[in-house]
Amino acid sequence: MTELELIIDLHKNSERQGPGSENDTLKALWLMDLPSDQKLKIADIGCGSGGQTITLAQNLNGEITAVDLFPEFLDELNEKSQKYGLSSKIKTLEKSMDELSFNNEEFDIIWSEGAIYNIGFENGLKKWKDYLKVGGYIAVSEITWITNSRPKEVEEYWTNEYPEIDTASNKIKLLESNGYSLIGYFYLRPNCWIENYWEPMESRFETFLERNHHSELAYKVVNDNKTEINLYSKYKDYFSYGFYIARKN
Ligand code: SAH
Repeated sequence: MTELELIIDLHKNSERQGPGSENDTLKALWLMDLPSDQKLKIADIGCGSGGQTITLAQNLNGEITAVDLFPEFLDELNEKSQKYGLSSKIKTLEKSMDELSFNNEEFDIIWSEGAIYNIGFENGLKKWKDYLKVGGYIAVSEITWITNSRPKEVEEYWTNEYPEIDTASNKIKLLESNGYSLIGYFYLRPNCWIENYWEPMESRFETFLERNHHSELAYKVVNDNKTEINLYSKYKDYFSYGFYIARKN
């Protein structure tokens, strides 16, 4: 298996593939002033196995197109949709988020939790804007510095991993300069990372390594995640996922 295949394998059979929570998905949703008498069209981009997709489908009147590059995650989401009786509200689409071919102004809401970084925050904002109706909402979570300054070790790690990491005020400026108005901002609390993401992942490490014959590459994937886990526990006061909710002007 390639490293990418191993990363997918590690993330399979889990509730979510990134930090988040049902409460935070709902908090972002409630910031939107949505009509209750209309069916909405929602795109959930980089949906993974659809933790947030299910929450959205349970709380919205409308149809969700859940997009991900990897069919392994979409298969899991389709199973979950069936289990919860939500198949008629959720359709899955296997496609790259930078090669979408939706119609202009097709959606009332574009949702993307912990995924826009794959094509970059500003690039994603620009690319996806056409698909959103004027007055429609975007909700994205994105790695964000939550203090104005920080220790060198964490600064260097993240700047190297994702040079676009920035403070919320700078991210909000990017929203504004790309034709969106901020409706709300908050950042994910540690339970979203620890209880909902790192601990479930840690409990999968052993079976993951066994399944992959304790290969060198499998160990690398585990160790890369352990590095991030340690970094998070040491520096959780300095960074998190910021949740940005904005309206297209
Ligand atoms: N929203 C989910 C998953 C976040 S992880 C959650 O919060 O749990 C990021 C997701 O983006 C993964 O499911 C990954 O498969 C997907 N992804 C990565 N690159 C992508 C691309 N180019 N196009 C579409 N999805 C992509």
